Amino acid sequence: MPEVSKKVGGIEDILVKRGLDCGGDELLERIESVSSGDVERALRSVDGLYSFEKLLALISPAAEDYLEKMAQMSRRLTVQRFGRTIRLYAPLYLSSFCNNSCLYCGFNENNEFKRKRLSVEEAEKEAEILALQGFRDILLVSSEDTKHIDVDYLVALAGKLRDKFSSISIEIHQLSSEEYARFFEAGIDGVSLYQETYDRGKYAYYHPKGPKADYRRRLRSGDSIGQVGMREIGLGALLGLADWRLETLALAEHGHYLMKKYWRSHISFSFPRIRPACKVERSKFEHLISDKELVQMMVALRLCFADVGLVMSTRENAKLRDHLISIGVTRISAGSKTNPGGYSSKSNAGEQFHIDDNRSAEQFSKVIMEHGFEAVWKDWDSGFCGD
Ligand code: SF4
Repeated sequence: MPEVSKKVGGIEDILVKRGLDCGGDELLERIESVSSGDVERALRSVDGLYSFEKLLALISPAAEDYLEKMAQMSRRLTVQRFGRTIRLYAPLYLSSFCNNSCLYCGFNENNEFKRKRLSVEEAEKEAEILALQGFRDILLVSSEDTKHIDVDYLVALAGKLRDKFSSISIEIHQLSSEEYARFFEAGIDGVSLYQETYDRGKYAYYHPKGPKADYRRRLRSGDSIGQVGMREIGLGALLGLADWRLETLALAEHGHYLMKKYWRSHISFSFPRIRPACKVERSKFEHLISDKELVQMMVALRLCFADVGLVMSTRENAKLRDHLISIGVTRISAGSKTNPGGYSSKSNAGEQFHIDDNRSAEQFSKVIMEHGFEAVWKDWDSGFCGD
């Protein structure tokens, strides 16, 4: 396991003190020993505010018997805070060239397949297809293709998309505060950057080389994004790499830390589970989590964070996604393609991972309505800031 320097600060300090950065055996024992009385006490004090002890009780095996009750409470809290609405967004993949070799990813630089990167003009055409489908919330996604997908490229693309999309967010490699500030000025209002796993040893194993191999640098990314007042910061752990209960606690600590420090930014949590991809066999991951555990994670977080966004992608199957509509999700993708150029080409070749819900955005928006919710294609406009 990589050596941990004693001189730490911020979120890293918090994770070390909690024992959440390395194995967490003691914490796992505490989680195992939670009683039904502890869970009931935690549920009596549900006010949507975070406490480590409360979350620890709600993600315990003892809380599984209370899952239905927790889901109902999560639904009530979400409707109170967000209304009966679900934001729809679409990812736009820009490149599949990558300088990293993350062992869980189809774009791993060691995998051989026909890679593709889009020019700004090609990306604009893909975005036009999404705009015609009704999307006004777009997420620009790219592998770490720094030679091509750099700050100038994204600023130029954002300039072309600003009139068609009311919200432009990015999920790309890690950058500096100065670079995030340039994005913000260009009209990009959200950045998602997942730690993948908060466990230092597992992080080193799954990220053997490349710029992303630096655990500490990645952990500091939330600060770089928060410092520029970015409107939305998306956090997440890739579920399957480490124990989901420890990852939930670490994710919560990370979100709580950023919320206290960067009040201008709205925090959201995502729940990506490992999916099959080119040379990625799901069965090889020892910490895969079940549908029931995923639901427990999501509703436990909602009961501790009434105001965070909970985000779900098309990695999940239709049945589960339909169920999650009514219990806490606030932003969800639909009709997604995970290969660059995927909206204008019929081929699925070169995907980052295989999606599990192939319904179109229109079909899915009808499902949202059938569940008594409204699909919101646009809920933000930079005009709200008086620009
Ligand atoms: S997860 Fe991201 S950085 Fe890692 S190999 Fe895949 S695209 Fe590259």
